[in-house]
Amino acid sequence: MPHLQKQEYDAIVAGAGPAGSIMALVLADAGLDVLLLEKRDEIGIPVRCAEATGSRAELERFVDVPDEWITDTIDGARLISPGGRMFEKSFPGVGVMLDRTRFDAGLAAAAAAKGAEVRTGIEVTGLLRDGERVTGVTVRDNHAKTAPDIALRARLVVGADGVESLIGRWAGLPTLWKSTQIFSCLEAKVKSRREGDGVLEFYFGNDVAPGGYGWAFPGGGPIWNVGVGIDATRSGRVPAGPFAERLIDRFDPDCEKIEWLGGAACKSPSLAKIYGEGIVLVGDAAHQPNPLTGGGIMNAMEAAAIAGECAAAGLRSGNLTPELARYQKEWHRNVGRVNDVYYRMAELVYRYSDDQLDHLCERIASLLDHQSGRVRPLLFLRDLLSLPRDFVLASLRIIPVNRWAIF
Ligand SMILES: Cc1cc2nc3c(=O)[nH]c(=O)nc-3n(C[C@H](O)[C@H](O)[C@H](O)COP(=O)(O)OP(=O)(O)OC[C@H]3O[C@@H](n4cnc5c(N)ncnc54)[C@H](O)[C@@H]3O)c2cc1C
Repeated sequence: MPHLQKQEYDAIVAGAGPAGSIMALVLADAGLDVLLLEKRDEIGIPVRCAEATGSRAELERFVDVPDEWITDTIDGARLISPGGRMFEKSFPGVGVMLDRTRFDAGLAAAAAAKGAEVRTGIEVTGLLRDGERVTGVTVRDNHAKTAPDIALRARLVVGADGVESLIGRWAGLPTLWKSTQIFSCLEAKVKSRREGDGVLEFYFGNDVAPGGYGWAFPGGGPIWNVGVGIDATRSGRVPAGPFAERLIDRFDPDCEKIEWLGGAACKSPSLAKIYGEGIVLVGDAAHQPNPLTGGGIMNAMEAAAIAGECAAAGLRSGNLTPELARYQKEWHRNVGRVNDVYYRMAELVYRYSDDQLDHLCERIASLLDHQSGRVRPLLFLRDLLSLPRDFVLASLRIIPVNRWAIF
């Protein structure tokens, strides 16, 4: 086992993705002893992400963002309906495309700069408990698999271990996925003759991506991320691979495939409980991505910032559990309840027939057009009323909230 600075910490964070690194950064910044553990040897590798996220200003609420983390800006979206019609809407500067390898490594480095101890190649293998209370973790050095696991104590254990999270389950939290709550994803980083124009492309249709969608996101110059996320329970047992191959062929049959990336993305409503005594979950481990898109980078950071502030207050006052309850409440008020609306929308849209999807794409495009021109209330009302009624009912609940970003 590489020499750790201590055997006992204020907080041990499992997983150095965006959630874990921001959590470690906030806790270390509050003057607490923090250990951030990552089971992979290199943080951010391999990438399991299409790398689209919110704007630079949104990211900079959490951390300084050097230029090298960003590969492109996002200036709009193009919806491609099952029938092949294209609807485009410009949203200048709405987001950025990231280099996730640099981004994830940079976030962990930012946590280290605030004083967190960051260790890679070390996997959390279990929890230490005193009755209901979690009091630490057992860990294994992945390069010394025959060496016994060692125990490390902590006043708080943070499960930031991503979509494959076991920590919540070990703690008895209700984190089990239903098979329908997972987008099974496969994408390729490709080099194409098509230059990116800052517009994210979304492809819909039951032949394209059953129970999900396909995407082509520009990653700077000729580089694109092209792939699909499907609901494997709706694809007749066909895995994501053939759908991804077909979409890449349709996108650019002559493109050069640089590397394939796979993984699971979340499509889940808010969990009933994301903390316990001495334990808290953040990011994918807490089912926090946007269920309509599976986009989870921004939500992971947002959750970790809230959880970090609450946990730091609890660790300082010695009254941790009520502060973790405050985190759950604030998360739900800020983002969780919006996610629940997106979940209801996802439950509808990803079950629609191709005809319904064609109609929906057309109506949404028409509605978005009202934003750019002179508002004509009667036409707007006509377009609104021509949306599928169940979709309108589900999506209207989003109006009272102020954070509706899909990534
Ligand atoms: C194909 C695909 C495309 C996606 N595209 C986008 C996109 O364009 N935009 C977007 O916003 N989101 C996207 N997402 C989702 C996004 O990647 C996640 O929501 C985000 O990474 C969540 O961050 P996190 O920190 O919670 O988890 P992760 O980034 O998954 O980090 C968890 C970390 O924990 C480590 N770990 C796991 N178990 C242990 C353990 N026992 N001990 C120590 N370490 C452990 C893992 O190795 C990992 O590094 C995509 C997902 C997939 C699969």
